[in-house]
Amino acid sequence: MKITVSVIKADVGGVGGHTKPSDGLIEAIRNTVKNSADLLIDYYIGYCGDDTHIVMTHTHGVDNQQIHKLAWDAFMAGTQVAKDEGLYGAGQDLLKDSFSGNVKGMGPGVAEMEFEERPNEAFTVFAADKTEPGAFNYPIYRMFVDALSNTGLIVNKSLAAGVTMHIMDVEKAQIAELHLWEDKPTIEAALMYPGRYVVDSVYTKDGEPILDASTDRLHNIAGTYVGKDDPICLVRTQKNFPATEEVGSVFNNPHYVAGNTRGSHNMPLMPVKLNSAATINFCIPIVEALVFSMHNGKLTGPFDGFSTPDWDYIREIATKKAMAIRSQGFIHPATLVPSELEYAEGYRARMDVLETKMKPMEGTSSGEKKENYEDPD
Ligand SMILES: [Mg+2]
Repeated sequence: MKITVSVIKADVGGVGGHTKPSDGLIEAIRNTVKNSADLLIDYYIGYCGDDTHIVMTHTHGVDNQQIHKLAWDAFMAGTQVAKDEGLYGAGQDLLKDSFSGNVKGMGPGVAEMEFEERPNEAFTVFAADKTEPGAFNYPIYRMFVDALSNTGLIVNKSLAAGVTMHIMDVEKAQIAELHLWEDKPTIEAALMYPGRYVVDSVYTKDGEPILDASTDRLHNIAGTYVGKDDPICLVRTQKNFPATEEVGSVFNNPHYVAGNTRGSHNMPLMPVKLNSAATINFCIPIVEALVFSMHNGKLTGPFDGFSTPDWDYIREIATKKAMAIRSQGFIHPATLVPSELEYAEGYRARMDVLETKMKPMEGTSSGEKKENYEDPD
């Protein structure tokens, strides 16, 4: 049976800041989805920080207009409640006034795939807040390229054969199809800069979808920066794909990602329990793992992937790394480079003042090298 899993998420308002949706907001989204439930086989609604995600199963394929409109209408209903309650950033991820066929490019993030359901279909949704799609570069690399992180890459025939990775240039909106293992160093060069290149999807060598990630970049869609585009990603697990514990454990080394407070800092990605609020400790970026089983499109779960005691230890590591980088305040690399700053306008205003105070140095003409200057080795 061919099933489509569609995960669509948006931030349409937070309680007292960019923290979490209100109960009323979630209820409005839930009621809208429930009223159109005849379109769906099953659904689940939850949140990660201030982003609400709707996990839907159906038989209508990817990019289906009715499914996308259902999610759009649900987020519009959530926005209305957010406005009525005075929530912060009400409707902030809905960049258009009316729906036009597909939510992609309209603000919400989408990860979806259609596949022939296996008898014991298993998948995990990773939902993150206070960061950007490139936050998944490092964990996805560990999943599909790094055998030191995933022994399945050696002992599982399908994974050992290598996968096909689609990597998007989020600035030029172009996409490249790259193949393991022949393109390994090229994939590595791309994943090196998560602000520019992000993993869009991963397939087995015979074309079975394994992973799909949201790769919309809000500030390019809207023309001006409107907020970090908190990502979600959907990964099928077990059998020919990585084991559930192989995709979970790649989040056990909280790496530094861009985003956080004012979308302008680097902080570690902390695995948290389902339906966690964003922390008000400078918005440490967070990620949740929703572990599902599915049969005939009916969901069982989610099991809360990062809820077991070992993840408390990982959270402690993340907190220590967060405090370590915060200890140097605004000095880069605690802050992002100017082109990545969410508050670039404010920064430019400061730099304009600095420019007016800049004068050529005595004895040199500005911008030119001294005659006897030699480049260091
Ligand atoms: Mg968010």
